[in-house]
Amino acid sequence: MTEIKHVIDGAEVDSADGAVFHDIDPYTRESYATVALGGAREADLAVDAARRAFDQGPWPRLSFEQRGKLLHRLADLMEENGAELALADTQDMGKPLTAAIGKDVPRSAHNFRFFADHARLAESQHLPSPTGHHVYSEHAPAGVVAAIAPWNFPLMLETWKVAPALAWGNTVVLKPAEDTPHSAYLLGKLALEAGLPPGVLNVVHGFGPDSAGEALTVNPDVDRITFTGESGTGRAIARAAAANLTPVSFELGGKGCNLIFDDADLDTAVSWAIEAAFGNSGQVCLAGSRLYVQRGVYEEFTARFADAAAAMTLGDPKDPATRLGPLASEEHYRKVTGFLDEASTGGAKVLGGGGAPGWFVRPNIVLDPPREARVLREEVFGPVVTLTPFDTEEEAVALANDSRYGLSAMVFTDNLHRAHRVAGSLRSGNVWVNCFFVRDLRAPFGGMGDSGMGREGGLFSREFFTEARTVTMRI
Ligand code: NAD
Repeated sequence: MTEIKHVIDGAEVDSADGAVFHDIDPYTRESYATVALGGAREADLAVDAARRAFDQGPWPRLSFEQRGKLLHRLADLMEENGAELALADTQDMGKPLTAAIGKDVPRSAHNFRFFADHARLAESQHLPSPTGHHVYSEHAPAGVVAAIAPWNFPLMLETWKVAPALAWGNTVVLKPAEDTPHSAYLLGKLALEAGLPPGVLNVVHGFGPDSAGEALTVNPDVDRITFTGESGTGRAIARAAAANLTPVSFELGGKGCNLIFDDADLDTAVSWAIEAAFGNSGQVCLAGSRLYVQRGVYEEFTARFADAAAAMTLGDPKDPATRLGPLASEEHYRKVTGFLDEASTGGAKVLGGGGAPGWFVRPNIVLDPPREARVLREEVFGPVVTLTPFDTEEEAVALANDSRYGLSAMVFTDNLHRAHRVAGSLRSGNVWVNCFFVRDLRAPFGGMGDSGMGREGGLFSREFFTEARTVTMRI
């Protein structure tokens, strides 16, 4: 059985009391690895190691070229070990291996390349003044960063946090989700192999409340907390972080809308709507889980969308033909099926659905649920989409904005004026027009309302992971 350990101060270590928990493969529903179960002690050791590496080690004092070289080396190693990294995420949470190999691992390696180069090339302000004062700004690394990650895109979201934090000279303690510890462990080992000094990237495993996660959020030696996960967890972390006034950056839950206008190219709209609703079995913060379709194309769209959803192949995530693996855990399977049971009991008409033995759920299309239905208002985080008709653009925008989340929105239309008008009216941190999930890492990424606090990406990551200092000099 595989043994997954902490990586602290350059060494693979067990927990002090030898405690472990099991890593369950959601396809076999059996444990395939034991994981060191960290608590406050291991989290504090990891923070101490990161503190020493920051205060006394070379990392924050290296040039951007030197750090960049090491981060590029890490990206090379991730690509060389891509099959193992991908399999780790697939075994941990059931995502199709083809997606893990084809998308998650390359994007994760790219996160290191992008942020290494971006930090090296970034400019800071210089403000010449006729008064004889010379003003310039500097961006010093913030210190020790705690990165707390979710399970839905384990490696990709961890590297999205770790890469900019390291590129800007910080040291990091990464706490992966308890369901998906494996790829973070491999990443920690590869970082050492790439030549990152001990203590620069530490990985500590464990749970959230009363465990390693919470311990990181209350440690006064942590200078930044970057968190991706549920909105409720974000609230708990905000409360914990307030005690030390630790700055936080939150990427939280979503309930994305997808507006299909009757002038849209339906081939494009159907294929992106399928990907947005059911990709990664709907376990995507950006999922287009609320579909709104203009009346003129409602029937045609619904028929084509339902056919395409029904054609998605369910099965072993390691089989290249599989598009939908099992849901990530038994607990999550129960949560998603609970939403569906409630929607059916409430009388909603559902197209598709059903499952397979185990924690599988086929795509479900809930037709025109009542405005207050939980399936329409709350994040299901599974292959479940609601489908509601609308008549006018104003109505579509009002329906789309009727959510406490504000992370992602899609608009399908061939009318350029409408595309700009609607994109500018949506209460959403990200709007995709006639596409989905295309990411430019220079752009701000984050959500409004319950979907987050702050933005990361490009210079936005620099703002969070550094302390800006203004120097005003009389010359
Ligand atoms: P979660 O909030 O349950 O857990 C996320 C992480 O937080 C885990 O590592 C967990 O151990 C830790 N944690 C839990 N309680 C904690 C506490 N009190 N203190 C410190 N750490 C704690 O989320 P999840 O179920 O792993 O992930 C799914 C959620 O993540 C969904 O809501 C999804 O929308 C969201 N998400 C958001 C984005 C985004 O970019 N906005 C991206 C991916 C996922």
